Amino acid sequence: MNNSSITMALAGNPNAGKTTLFNRLTGARQHVGNYPGITVDHKEGYFSHNEQDITITDLPGTYSLTAYSVEEIVTRDFLTANKPKVVINIVDASNLERNLYLTTQFLEMGVPLVIALNMIDVAKDRGIEVRARKLEELLGVPVVPIIARTGEGTDELIRQAIIVGHSEEKWQPIDISYGEDLDKIIIHLDSIIAESDFLTNSYPARFTAIKYLEHDDQMLPLGQKEDSGIARQLEQIVTTVSDHLLKTMDVYPEAIIADHRYGFIKAILRQGVVTHKFDTDRLYTSDKIDKVLTNRLLGPVVMLAILFTLYQFTFSWSELPVALMGSFFGWLGSVVDTLLPEGPLKSMLISGVIDGVGGVLGFVPLIMFMFFGIAVLEDSGYLARVAFMMDRIFRIFGLHGSSVMPFIVSGGIAGGCAVPGVMATRTLRSPKERMATLLTVPFMNCGAKVPVLILLIGAFFSDHKALYMFLFTLLAWLVALVVAKLLRSTVLKGEATPFVMELPPYRFPTLQGLLIHTWERTWQYIKKAGTVILAISILLWALMTYPGLPQEELDSFAEKRIAVTESFSETIQLEIRESDNHNGDLSESALALQERLTTIDQEQSGARLRNSTAGRIGIFLEPVSSLAGFDWRTNIALLGGFAAKEVIISTLGTAYSMGEVDVDASDSLGQRLVRDPNWNSVVAISVLIFIMFYAPCFVTVICIAKEAGSWKWAFFSMAFNTFFAFLASVAVFQIGSFV
Ligand code: GDP
Ligand code: MG
Repeated sequence: MNNSSITMALAGNPNAGKTTLFNRLTGARQHVGNYPGITVDHKEGYFSHNEQDITITDLPGTYSLTAYSVEEIVTRDFLTANKPKVVINIVDASNLERNLYLTTQFLEMGVPLVIALNMIDVAKDRGIEVRARKLEELLGVPVVPIIARTGEGTDELIRQAIIVGHSEEKWQPIDISYGEDLDKIIIHLDSIIAESDFLTNSYPARFTAIKYLEHDDQMLPLGQKEDSGIARQLEQIVTTVSDHLLKTMDVYPEAIIADHRYGFIKAILRQGVVTHKFDTDRLYTSDKIDKVLTNRLLGPVVMLAILFTLYQFTFSWSELPVALMGSFFGWLGSVVDTLLPEGPLKSMLISGVIDGVGGVLGFVPLIMFMFFGIAVLEDSGYLARVAFMMDRIFRIFGLHGSSVMPFIVSGGIAGGCAVPGVMATRTLRSPKERMATLLTVPFMNCGAKVPVLILLIGAFFSDHKALYMFLFTLLAWLVALVVAKLLRSTVLKGEATPFVMELPPYRFPTLQGLLIHTWERTWQYIKKAGTVILAISILLWALMTYPGLPQEELDSFAEKRIAVTESFSETIQLEIRESDNHNGDLSESALALQERLTTIDQEQSGARLRNSTAGRIGIFLEPVSSLAGFDWRTNIALLGGFAAKEVIISTLGTAYSMGEVDVDASDSLGQRLVRDPNWNSVVAISVLIFIMFYAPCFVTVICIAKEAGSWKWAFFSMAFNTFFAFLASVAVFQIGSFV
């Protein structure tokens, strides 16, 4: 056996279990989504089996190989460009007919194929029995039953795949009959293609012929490039046939082809491959549950109730651990305070690192509870129902059903990230719907905005935390949808495209799966806090500390201190002499002196912050920002948020700890804000609204530019969002302060 690495590709319908199998084989913990459309790029992994090295690629989920969507193109391009030694086609045994549609096209393409018959456990539960041997015989390729989730059968699958990978036999595509009319034409096209060696490097001649008949969006331009003469000849034949079919039978060739593929599959399944133990029209449990959960009236009510419960659960369960984390960082601050001498290092550690990163890390327990709740919704299959129900609403606003997932990924429920959200828009076929989606997903409450929401809601609306979280989530959706509608009726005007969504059956989530999902996301949050956020926090601390105060001002503060101390010294000495109090308590005047000195210290560090680079910028912006109720310190934090929204909390933490020297360990940032005269509940709402809707963070902006294919849209998004957010905040603040 030769031991050079074998290349394998993993392909199949969305939700067939590709990612689960991929992770099981490679040990990589890749995101497993229980809904269609999450894997767009392909992922590569490595493993070995009996000393055979294997490179495996997880391809995006697709239902077909016709170039209707990005996934289909990615998959086909990968296969023709990389020519993997084996394609493992993973099919969902509980949904065989539909899954085999893709299989027929692999067979037609002639790729070396092994079929992984996945989810036999689910099939069995539903009373479906699939005979793998029989299927293998009829299709002429190995079929191995597996349960990707537990790993059952995967050894045998890889063993078969290696055998196929090593076989030198030339693979023969199979011929499916497309009916008398089309078969004749296909043979004709086939001969033209074969004779002129047209695209035969990439595809078998017959496959190309069929794709021409299907009006494949990618094959036609490819053909033009290869040989425009032949391409024109083929196109002409196809046009004649299409016209004829349309006139005589009122159908397109694509429809006839699809019908025959299903016919072929049905014919195979009928030969004893699948038997149903139960009545076929029996309502499966999933369908029964869906009767209620996706009911037109009841469904949305239940959905809102579930979301509300999620927030309630998150806030109530995490209260204690969050408080503990808060006091831990407070304690850490006071330890550093007593251990280190005064100076820039201490200031950086306390104000930059502990207040900054600690502010972000303090929310870890809460984030974890939130992610756990979302993992339950996702793994059980409920999230797909949310997408399904939202689709009805989305159409009204000019978006597509496939837009729902990008929204949820971006933080539609809470705590996602707009970067994968923007990337997930690749599943949208219509460029305009896609653009409208990727410009509005940054409005969702991503993982970086959530702590700000929690902080301000916790500080100013502590009696109704879950309710406010719920309302702000609804607001995010409302704004996103209205803006989308606005875009779709102006710059992105265009037709809506149809959407079909399959609901995967409900599954009982496994504890392990839930824990892994929760941990993956939490870890990402922690990692970001420890790296990017740490760096930006320190940078901002520096901007908020330097250039410091000019000498004469320092002198004047020093003089003030001396003056105050002197004015008290006599009385204090007198008091000490007079009192017979020897237990070390400070006298009344000494306490008063201490208070005065603290005030001077506060004035000094406040003056220092004002004089710093960041402070000057904040003050410069204050005349405008005060329209929305933001003071100069808030401005500093909001500017920091352009880099990463997490920084908003850390910067507020730093700004508000620099103002006060006497850092009381038990005093959280929230409490400081509540006590600050510049803050109140109207300001809190205004700030939150600005943070929710202003320019996406730096990374998202880059991502938008990349996905939209131009910086124009990225700049548009920054300018438009910031402008819109500011107007909204001004409106809230002005109206709120007025009433
Ligand atoms: P992909 O879209 O093809 O990547 O599919 P995923 O790997 O994300 O799997 C979709 C869902 O099916 C996940 O919730 C998996 O846990 C689940 N799943 C995958 N394989 C099996 C299996 O063999 N049995 C059962 N019961 N569930 C499975
Ligand atoms: Mg996947």
